[in-house]
Amino acid sequence: MPRPVPSRWRRRFPVATAAGAALLMLASPATAVSGTPAGGTRADAPAALDRPADEQASVVEVFLADQAALDELVATGVDLDHHVTRTGTGIVVHAVVTPTETAALRRMGYRIGATLHDPADSAQRIAEREATIAGHRADNRRFSASLAPSATASDVRIIRADYYTSGTDQVLSVEAKWGQGQTASDALTVARDSGPGTEIGSGGTQTISRFVDAGVYLYHRGAATVTARPHRIQVTSPTGDVAVAEVTEWLPVPDDDPEGPGYQKDFVTSYLTPTELYARIRQLAADHPRLAEVVELPYKTNGYRRKAQVVLGGSAAASRVAVDSLAWGHQGGNDISVELADPGAADRPLTVTVTGPAVRVELATDAAGAVTSTAAEVVAALNARAGTLVRAYTYRGDAGAGVVAPVARTPLTDNLKAPASVSRDPHPVYAIRIGKHRDGSRTGVLAYAQEHAREWVPPLVTIETAERLLRNYAHDRQTRQLLDTLDIWIAPSINPDGGHYSFYDFASQRKSMTNHCPTGDAADALARNSWGVDNNRNYTEYSLFDGYAGASTSCTSGSYAGPSELSEPENRNLDWLARRGNIRFSMNLHSSGNYFMWSPGAYSLPDRVSAPRPTLAEESFFWGASSRILTAIKRHRNLAVTPARTGPISDVLYSAAGNSGDMLWYRYGIYAWNFEVGNSFQPAWDEAHEQTLEYANGLVELMRVARDFDKDRTRPESTMAVTPNAAPGMVSVRFEVSEPAAVFYTLDGGRPTYTSTLYASAGIREGAETLTVPAGTRVHWFSVDAAGNVEGNYRPDGHGRNFNKDRAVLPRG
Ligand SMILES: [Zn+2]
Repeated sequence: MPRPVPSRWRRRFPVATAAGAALLMLASPATAVSGTPAGGTRADAPAALDRPADEQASVVEVFLADQAALDELVATGVDLDHHVTRTGTGIVVHAVVTPTETAALRRMGYRIGATLHDPADSAQRIAEREATIAGHRADNRRFSASLAPSATASDVRIIRADYYTSGTDQVLSVEAKWGQGQTASDALTVARDSGPGTEIGSGGTQTISRFVDAGVYLYHRGAATVTARPHRIQVTSPTGDVAVAEVTEWLPVPDDDPEGPGYQKDFVTSYLTPTELYARIRQLAADHPRLAEVVELPYKTNGYRRKAQVVLGGSAAASRVAVDSLAWGHQGGNDISVELADPGAADRPLTVTVTGPAVRVELATDAAGAVTSTAAEVVAALNARAGTLVRAYTYRGDAGAGVVAPVARTPLTDNLKAPASVSRDPHPVYAIRIGKHRDGSRTGVLAYAQEHAREWVPPLVTIETAERLLRNYAHDRQTRQLLDTLDIWIAPSINPDGGHYSFYDFASQRKSMTNHCPTGDAADALARNSWGVDNNRNYTEYSLFDGYAGASTSCTSGSYAGPSELSEPENRNLDWLARRGNIRFSMNLHSSGNYFMWSPGAYSLPDRVSAPRPTLAEESFFWGASSRILTAIKRHRNLAVTPARTGPISDVLYSAAGNSGDMLWYRYGIYAWNFEVGNSFQPAWDEAHEQTLEYANGLVELMRVARDFDKDRTRPESTMAVTPNAAPGMVSVRFEVSEPAAVFYTLDGGRPTYTSTLYASAGIREGAETLTVPAGTRVHWFSVDAAGNVEGNYRPDGHGRNFNKDRAVLPRG
């Protein structure tokens, strides 16, 4: 389909020179941030926020005077939640910081408010999730036990059988529990009668499939269209046991529910780890082989794995010795130990003995028997004698002149706490591709979540959406239309390594797990909760590398952009997805803040020079589609995403250089939105559950927007309105269009084309501009909608004269 404004695509903004250099200095951890933040002065700004590995993080409020103070805070590289509230007196943002980082912010002059989420909250969510899973398991055990005592008990039980009509369709929905459903993946067969007094089987059969959540079998379920209202059904298990139940009539639901009666939803019962998310989409695809497939994206992550490490030698930086295994922790690194022994005798030399994985350093002593080995000397000796096992270095670039303190044998450790069921290998990243025609010929929609590891609700929104699309296909006409028309890609976790780390090691993990810190910086074990690339800052358009604000060059910053654009496998995977030429719409799911946003997402400082704004027509389409999506969200429990939190990222949040939405929009021409779901990363389950349901409403509505776009053959219509103008001899001209559409015009009597002047928005968040032209000017114009339909079948690239023509004269009377 022709793009309405072809010149827009693949635009690359030149690297800003002066402004870009200034930004890079601001973002550098080694450079003190200039200026004065809200609330006070800063005498000596710390180089970077230090996040000790033994501290968990909390979400705290930070009060700022104005946007400049926010830009400055962002430039420190502090780890920010997606939460920016503009109040009458300033701006309140949420920062994710440990006690040490909070103290550093206070020293920098920032005013800290309430703590909104603390480590105990995350621990509580994990406990809640484990209790839910344990409850499901216990329920399964009880059910299995109830079958055991009597050989006559059936191993299958019907939970419910509901009949309803949907439009002209008749539908039977069945849920049943099978004693072996935890381990056996078989579907169950349901046989129907065709009314009271008829034979079981006379109404036909249908199958129902397993509903598994967090790896635990819950029950079998499914719905199918039927030709007669059944009175009874019989379910037969693979062992031959049977259960019989009467069918009940499901209450009709109001006509104004676009999901229709019997629409199935509510498919998640707890938070899901990345391993569980991927298992879930595999199960879904296996249940619907004609409608879905799981696609392994081309780049594996660097893996939920780390080198085994330790920092020895004392508390002062000068006497510290950092030791890393060469092997990954799980591949032998965790078996290594290091001892710094006081020989207990005078005039001994520094020696290193390696026995298997045990490294013993005997420290040098003077004539009095006192230890004299410095950190630098121990590092050199370790690298010389144990260099096939470990790499040693002084602490964060220190010269290492301090004498080390003896340390008993200490094992190196990768500090990773996930169970062995979480792979330590480079991890494949998976998407589920949904649609009847998955050959690239249909309009594509992409949804992806968990670029940020600690955001646990957004992946659930993608799972709930995928389940709704697949499990309603058989009996819901609207769902069928979506899957028959669209090519839908859903990637529930872009950053599985960080996701696993967030569940098992550090709940506040935002970034990937990859350690890009050099040994002269924060490569040691004590910085391990600060490593990783912010996967939503590593993309190609308007990035830090192009001179834009809101990303950091520091390997420990919350918004570290990585060593170069698309340096990370997580990011290359998303780029690969966006390259599917048919993808026209995307949703990047994050939390939190209840925002709904699109490009531009970045500006350069100090003058806030924004990435190009969408054209009026594009902006109109963004707003029009957004109102539909937000209405669908509101339908769930009346949550209104406010207009103040809807719009371009850089208007309503803050600059985020190199974010994915901007790459999708500027480089690939995809209408790219961003959700910020809910009010916290890890809300209590009841709230997480509600957020999942309400934002899945919005994501399904995006599919409907895409389908309507695909089916849009309606040509826009436009009119010109002329009104008086204060300037002598001039009049004011505005164009009005029947739908979101671009207007191209000429004022010199020439033929309007796509290279003619584009009628523009009057300014940020305003409507169309008003042109001032000499009275009597000949105006030629045409309009084109976002689907590429041109008004009046005019061919802008042809020779026809069937464009709109009028003179700019005031209407009479
Ligand atoms: Zn996020």
